[in-house]
Amino acid sequence: MSINAKKVLFRDVSILDSTGAEPYRGDVLVDHDRITSVGTTAPGAAEGARVIEGRGRTLMSGLCDAHTHLTWNNSADMDGLGALPVEEHLLFTVDSAKTFLDSGYTMGFGAASAKMRLDVVVRDAIEAGRIPGPRYRANGPEIAVTGGALVKGITLFADGPEGMRKAVRELIDLGVDQIKLSMTGEEITGTQRAEDTYFSDEEVAACVAEAHRRGKMVCAHARSAESVKMCVRHGVDVVYHASFTDPEGMDMLEQAKDWVFVAPAVNWLIATLYEAADFGYPQEAAEAAGYKRELEIATEAMIEMHKRGIKVLPGGDYGFAWTPHGTYARDLQHFVERFGFSPMEAIVSATALGGEIMQRPDELGKVQPGYLADLLLVDGDPLADITVLQDHDKLHYIMKDGKFHKETPEAS
Ligand SMILES: [Zn+2]
Repeated sequence: MSINAKKVLFRDVSILDSTGAEPYRGDVLVDHDRITSVGTTAPGAAEGARVIEGRGRTLMSGLCDAHTHLTWNNSADMDGLGALPVEEHLLFTVDSAKTFLDSGYTMGFGAASAKMRLDVVVRDAIEAGRIPGPRYRANGPEIAVTGGALVKGITLFADGPEGMRKAVRELIDLGVDQIKLSMTGEEITGTQRAEDTYFSDEEVAACVAEAHRRGKMVCAHARSAESVKMCVRHGVDVVYHASFTDPEGMDMLEQAKDWVFVAPAVNWLIATLYEAADFGYPQEAAEAAGYKRELEIATEAMIEMHKRGIKVLPGGDYGFAWTPHGTYARDLQHFVERFGFSPMEAIVSATALGGEIMQRPDELGKVQPGYLADLLLVDGDPLADITVLQDHDKLHYIMKDGKFHKETPEAS
């Protein structure tokens, strides 16, 4: 059986198309790399197609993780993120790219690379078809100011507007798709507080101007209230975390909701608070550091952003020992259980808004004619139980670019 069939007909599937419409039963035809018809197929159009009998299983777009670190190596401590020698680190990164696809993620928005070229090289290998992985927007190491790094070993240091310009230019020269600014602290470091803001307005403005001039996006680790406002003021495209957004920042995000994306990476907060004890960070320590307080405040902020129609995307900073690769779809559960998203809204956010953040809204993230065939056939109804997406055994078929990455033989 060829896994490169040029035409594939998914017959009698429950079509969850990510437009927000309720799922309905029908057929979906894929020709080469594109979806050509959805619902009904013109007579003869499916001739010669390989037929997958859906029997009511859910057909939906592949998922997007808006805060992806292919290079995070499941380390049990922060410094471990940079400790692997480059050769082993490349192998790890190749593995995690495959893990994303194995988990139903066909889109990843890179949120920083632990070493200069790892993200870029792996993106290029995926695009060339040499290794399996999601469609990927590559990043470089995160930029921090002197004294403002979360993990020195994975950071590119720059100071002042001219220093920032040079760092951004250097990263663009490497071939990154976006730039990451590490603007605030993070409590687990013990020294850099989440509500500290390290960048100046002039530095953020210089980074954004330089990146946008070259058609690159900018994302930022921004936990403090001030950093969120700085992001909006200067046009940072993707605001990560945004936990301590204050009322003024909330209004600014709302006014910018046509272009700004927020990705809270909330699984990091939850797992660091409740699930890191086995890795040397007990809940009492996490609470004492402020993670419980931050989770409560961030949860209120995300509920409010959702109410105001600000684009909030799943994507969770996965790749620590207590947030291992492969568990990415936990984010959707958190959106439903904590942020007041319906399962449909969480899925649209992880698919259609995924297409938007990937800068390809007209061909990624929906099951619609003309869209690229990045599809999941799920044994279950994610609208009834959002956690089904976490169960890899339920992802019966995973297709990217019209080619099957995974096929589950039918029981006879
Ligand atoms: Zn991150």
